[in-house]
Amino acid sequence: MSEKPLVVITGASSGIGEATAKLFSEKGYPLLLLARRIDKMEALNLPNTLCRKLDVTDRDAFKLVIKEAEDKFGPVDCLVNNAGLMQLSPFVAQNPTEWDNMIDVNVKGLLNGMHAVLESMYERKHGSIYNVSSVAGIKIFPNHSVYCGTKFSVHAISDAVREEAGANNVRVAVIAPGAVETELLGHTTNNDIIEGYEEWKKQIGGALIPEDIAHSILYAYEQPQRVNIREIVITCTGQE
Ligand code: NDP
Repeated sequence: MSEKPLVVITGASSGIGEATAKLFSEKGYPLLLLARRIDKMEALNLPNTLCRKLDVTDRDAFKLVIKEAEDKFGPVDCLVNNAGLMQLSPFVAQNPTEWDNMIDVNVKGLLNGMHAVLESMYERKHGSIYNVSSVAGIKIFPNHSVYCGTKFSVHAISDAVREEAGANNVRVAVIAPGAVETELLGHTTNNDIIEGYEEWKKQIGGALIPEDIAHSILYAYEQPQRVNIREIVITCTGQE
């Protein structure tokens, strides 16, 4: 059994989740990494790390992998609920399947993660959850109607659960990044929107890199348990 407690990271196969996994591993935390592309997580080759293929929308499977990791490493002390999907479109042109995907992953997947770990954190009176939202969870942008809806939900749900969790010495917090250079835009099918987004990133002086977000999550987590940094909004300096 490791000295440091188990950290679970969803969406660890690329972008922010991958960078967070590498950083927490460097700091000596045992990890459970979750996403559908298990090959990408295994290729990171991190020590004391269990990689499992998981679709975060599968509530029962989520609970099973948490149990498997806890049997190996001890109780989960930190969950980084990071898996997410962004499909941008004018509302009327959007295929409703894309609404379903975003709501299922960004909202229900995040709920599944919290549900899989919170009860045991309450029993142990210790734990931390970092829900990755977005600046699009604070302000709206054109063509982001459903994505914004899911990320505003992440803020509302996190705030509400935080009030319940605090009584159990469990921290719930939101990480709200601005533009970060990752694969996220790759799920949008409208080329005009993709080009416009890339142009906007140039205008604001370039996006953040995933490591910037990883450091903010580690910073919040490594505060003493009595300190809950409830929300971190982190953007590149030029983003409005
Ligand atoms: P990436 O596309 O690089 O990463 C998304 C991750 O989510 C992947 O690891 C993917 O893994 C995982 N994922 C998606 N769907 C599922 C699913 N059904 N089950 C399990 N895992 C899933 O993008 P980012 O790193 O940018 O995104 C991480 C988070 O940051 C998201 O919540 C995003 O909304 C948020 N964010 C990103 C910003 C940006 O500009 N990049 C800005 C603000 C917020 P796999 O496909 O292998 O399952």
